[in-house]
Formats: sequence, C-alpha cells, structure tokens
Amino acid sequence: MTNDARMTKIKWRRCILRVSVFFPIFLSIFPAALQAADNVSILGSNPKWNVLEKYQGTITHDEFSRLIQDVYCTHGFAPDLVEINEKTARVPMNRESRKFFTLRFAENTAGRKSVPHLWRPARSLPPARAEKPLFGLRIALDPGHLGGKWAKMEERWFQVGNSKPVEEGDLTLRVARLLAPRLRELGAKVSFIRNSNEPITAKRPEDFRELARKILIKNGVPQPRADVLDPNDPAKEQTIRWQSEILFYRYSEIRRRAALVNFKLHPDLVLCLHFNAEGWGDPNNPTLTDTNHLHLLVNGSYLAEELEFDDERFEMIRRLLSRAYEEELPLADTIGATMARETGLPAYQYPTTNSTTKVGTSGYVYARNLLATRLYRCPVVYCEPYVMNSKDAFARIQAGDYEGVRAINGVERKSIYREYADSVVEGLIEYYSKARCSRDR
Ligand SMILES: [Zn+2]
Repeated sequence: MTNDARMTKIKWRRCILRVSVFFPIFLSIFPAALQAADNVSILGSNPKWNVLEKYQGTITHDEFSRLIQDVYCTHGFAPDLVEINEKTARVPMNRESRKFFTLRFAENTAGRKSVPHLWRPARSLPPARAEKPLFGLRIALDPGHLGGKWAKMEERWFQVGNSKPVEEGDLTLRVARLLAPRLRELGAKVSFIRNSNEPITAKRPEDFRELARKILIKNGVPQPRADVLDPNDPAKEQTIRWQSEILFYRYSEIRRRAALVNFKLHPDLVLCLHFNAEGWGDPNNPTLTDTNHLHLLVNGSYLAEELEFDDERFEMIRRLLSRAYEEELPLADTIGATMARETGLPAYQYPTTNSTTKVGTSGYVYARNLLATRLYRCPVVYCEPYVMNSKDAFARIQAGDYEGVRAINGVERKSIYREYADSVVEGLIEYYSKARCSRDR
C-alpha cells in the first residue's frame, strides 16, 4: 500500500510539496543545509553532483532521451531543468547558482564506456547450476511498513468486529520470512532490511515535533494544534502529532532503510513487499470490497514539481545513469506475470495517470517516484498484490498461514502468504534462468 492508497495521504503530500517549493529551508533538518538557499525534499540533503562524473560517456544521446521521455519525465519537465543537446545534457545543480552538471554522451553504442555500479545485473552473475538459478545473487527483502505497535500510527491497521486486526507491516514481514529460505535454497544470499516490528531509524515522532510545527505554520496553519480528540477528524492532518508521526514512520524510516541498503547491504536487487488496499474508511468499522488486484512498481514518472528539488533531480539522473531500469523492468514484468498466474488477480488500473506511467509489456507494472524506489541504489521491484480489505483477501488473511490448501469462501486456496512468496520465487527463477542462459549463448 503506497502513499495515495488513501486520499488523506494525497492531500498531505500536496501540502508538503507546496510548502517545500516556497519554503524549502524548513524541509531540511541538517544545519549545513540551513545556511544556503537550499531546495531539497523532506529530510533530504544536498546532492553531491560530482559523483555523477563516473557516468561520463556511458550513455548515448538517444538512450538518454528515450529514458527521460518514456520512463523518468513522462509528465514533462521544465526545459531548463534537463537540457538535452546533441553531445551533452545539462542539469542545473540548483536554480540560484547557475552551476550545471554536464553529462557528455557516448557518440554511439559501440563507443560507450561500461556503466559502473556496485550491483550486478543478471548477465554478470557467476555461472549457476540449473538447480541453483539464483546462485550468488544478493537479494535484500524490504517488508513494507512496521506493523506491531506502530500499525495504527502508520494507518496500516483495520479490524472487522472482533476478528484479528489486519496490519500490513505484519503481513509483509510474514511473506519475507517465507521467501528468505526459499531464495537461499535457490542459491541467493538474502538479507532483511527489516526483520522485526521495530523501525530502523533511531528517531521517534517526538524528534520531529519542531519540524512538523514549522511545516504546518509555513503551510498556512499559524497555530498548529498538538492533537485532535477524534481520530476520524480530517483536521488531524494539520496537527503536530500527525505530521511528526509521518515524518518518523515514512520519511525518516525509509531514508534509514536506504542508508542500510546503500552503505551496508549492497544488494543486487531489493524486493519491496506490500499489500494493497482500497479506502476502508473508519479502521474500526472498515468497508470490505469486492475489488481485488495486482500491480508492481519501478522507479520513474517524476512529477515536474518533484524535479524542482535539487536532491530529487539529482537522484533521478543518478538512477537513470545507473541503468537500474534495464534490470528492474524486465524483472518486474516477469514477476508480475508469475504473480498474476498464481494469484489470478487482474491488473490494477490507477484511476488517474497523475503520478504513474504504465511501463513494460506485462500490463502489471507502473513507474512511480516513491521514496524507496528512488533511494535504494540498485534495481528495486515493488510488489503490490492483494487488496487487504477485499472480501477475498480479508478471509484469507484471517485464515492465517498453513501448508497445502484449504477451502476459503468455498474455494481451495493456498495460504495467501505462501501464494505471495511462491509467485515471487517463480518470477525470480524464470527471470534469472533465462537471463543467465542468454549470457552463456
Ligand atoms: Zn504498503
């Protein structure tokens, strides 16, 4: 379940974006960033553009233009933010200084330098025997959200009557724990980005109260309230409590996870595991729906206003140049197809294309600029199967985990957790077996 699965998140995100365009200085908690007229996204820091020098000559003009148009800037962009010339692309480091990062294109594909990266694409993994198709592959599992005592705060919690509460962060962790041994059996080296209901970040909501207050004031709430009594009151989003909580469990937590991925784990692939939801209304009296679906996300589809932030623009260019897309898209397509086959779920259609762009060939994959897909510096496949508050998924979640099949609503089904894990495993086997074979030929 991503940010806009619920309308409240959209509103909040818009409000933050508006604040950050006009009052960017308040969006950084780093003292260094407060000294200059910086323009970075929430809890972001100033980009180091010189790290992009290693990508000089690694991409042709046509390859770069195609990735900008079809994947990363599908909603358009200010022409002075990414200026594509015949031999170079010019990207401002920030709007005030008029300093630019200039990328020199390779003249043609034959003269292209190889792309440096720490992660390895399927074709450069060590040879594997048929029974170990994932041999040597480093996979980091990222079970979405936190669950446990944080689930209500994250708004990833609902309960029907006296039934067991549904907490997305617990469901995703269960899937990760089923996946890990299966992947290891197939030869992969598996690490967990989270393997408990505790956050990775050492920060807590209290640490963000002052920042939350500043954001609210700058967003036209001159005297932000500490809290509201009724948790269903929409005004709660303008309280210091609500804003400081989201700064903790989303922005701080995901940025810490990214630091773990990028500086310690160095995986070849991150699998972000989520369950989707439709708006459920009151979490204590949620709406159950007949709708159930599947989609996967890869990074891309940046909004014009997101590209105004120096760090997001930098991260987009870095991601494009790393060519993670060439690995994550066919992999997401393959996993999408095996998940569809195994789960029987139809492809989700986003109600608008405001923040997403359909990519690939399977019909299940969208590009979207999420914090995790942007910040983890390797291929990232973000899975969003099952609507937790669909009647079908809810019954299967209530049935818990079990071996074999059981009758759920009159149909023999695997446990929802095993079906999820099995379908991801099948996709990985299919992709890596094929990709390694094609290299051997
Ligand atoms: Zn989620």
